[in-house]
Amino acid sequence: MSISFSLLVEIKMARIVLLGAGHAQLYVLKHFAECRNKKLFNEHDFTLISPSSVQYYSGMLPGVIAGHYALGDCQIDVSVWAERAGAVFIQDTVIHLDADNKCIQMLSGIALHYDFLSICTGSETDLSDFNGGSSVLIPFKPIESFLHSWSRCIASPPKSIAVLGGGAGGFELVCAIQACLQQHSIETQVKWVVGNRGLLSDFPKGLQKKAASLVSRLNIQIIQDRATVKQNKPLLNKSGHVLDAEVIVVATGPSSPKWLQCSGLQLSSGYIVVDEYHRSLSHSSIVAAGDVCHRNAAHWKRSGVYAVRAGPYLAKNLEAMLLNQSLQPYLPQKRALYLLSCGRKGALASWGRGYWHASWLWKLKSWIDRAYIRSFR
Ligand SMILES: Cc1cc2nc3c(=O)[nH]c(=O)nc-3n(C[C@H](O)[C@H](O)[C@H](O)COP(=O)(O)OP(=O)(O)OC[C@H]3O[C@@H](n4cnc5c(N)ncnc54)[C@H](O)[C@@H]3O)c2cc1C
Repeated sequence: MSISFSLLVEIKMARIVLLGAGHAQLYVLKHFAECRNKKLFNEHDFTLISPSSVQYYSGMLPGVIAGHYALGDCQIDVSVWAERAGAVFIQDTVIHLDADNKCIQMLSGIALHYDFLSICTGSETDLSDFNGGSSVLIPFKPIESFLHSWSRCIASPPKSIAVLGGGAGGFELVCAIQACLQQHSIETQVKWVVGNRGLLSDFPKGLQKKAASLVSRLNIQIIQDRATVKQNKPLLNKSGHVLDAEVIVVATGPSSPKWLQCSGLQLSSGYIVVDEYHRSLSHSSIVAAGDVCHRNAAHWKRSGVYAVRAGPYLAKNLEAMLLNQSLQPYLPQKRALYLLSCGRKGALASWGRGYWHASWLWKLKSWIDRAYIRSFR
């Protein structure tokens, strides 16, 4: 009798910290809110830490830039979800994790101990190639600063903008930026620097050709090269030419968060290595999902689609860890449908080796994106 009572107290008092309000974490909050409504288990010492009370859905941001959505259309109020889940919301940024001593350090100076930690802090934009350049740099992440810099850029438009990054994010951004400039009759030159591997290199060849012709029709110059800053100038590596751009938007793909480097966690290229349950391989009280983690699974990718899919498993497994129950593996799907918006109301779709371009695909994308946001209202 006394053993089960002490167990109950232990479970009741478990300190759970949710770090970052990324896609998968939203499912954790939602799941714990449902459990709380149904009184499925006792209250916990539950905390959410995020730099902002609002999470922006990256899939809709190109649509915001292109003028199809208001900013509010792609916002999720994470402080509301924290309250529903019975969590204390702390608006702060984590700068250090000591996984052996189960302690996190925040920018404000606060240190917090935990029993269970769920990390969904996404990735960062790698700016190491651009230190000291004279152009104005606008990295896509953190999204809050990107939005701020973009609105300043539009208020006083530069003569030339270059978008760096030949992936899906770079494609959507460059098309959206051009659509925005055309809408406002701003005559700014737009360039898309796609890197050495060429544009959309992870997509089928046919889709790459279609994307190239769409971008050229939008009057965007494609540069197949990699840009870096040397002697304070942005240079194109292969040609050696100066990249003539007053503003450089950086969407060069994910890079691992610096604050994880001295955490003691097992990392792969700086990302948290997790098993099929999304539990850290080195520290079993930590789970992680989305861009911040690394999985050795055949079909797993670092993208919003897989972050969303992992969410319900992350939530269930965190609950199972609390209740000492068995965990459920998340098996990444073989293929995912990718819908890339093309600035105006059109989209490119890819599924396996197939690809399509149509305006109704934009409507489909918009319907899926809006449904996702609605599910967190
Ligand atoms: C323009 C663009 C469009 C895209 N469109 C799509 C798309 O349509 N479909 C798709 O699948 N993928 C898309 N992606 C990729 C997608 O954005 C990422 O793969 C996805 O956002 C990763 O989700 P996440 O939950 O891991 O992290 P994020 O969505 O980045 O969320 C991380 C959260 O953690 C917080 N955080 C960060 N650091 C800290 C810290 N130190 N302490 C506390 N909190 C922190 C952040 O503020 C944020 O709230 C796009 C990318 C770009 C650039």
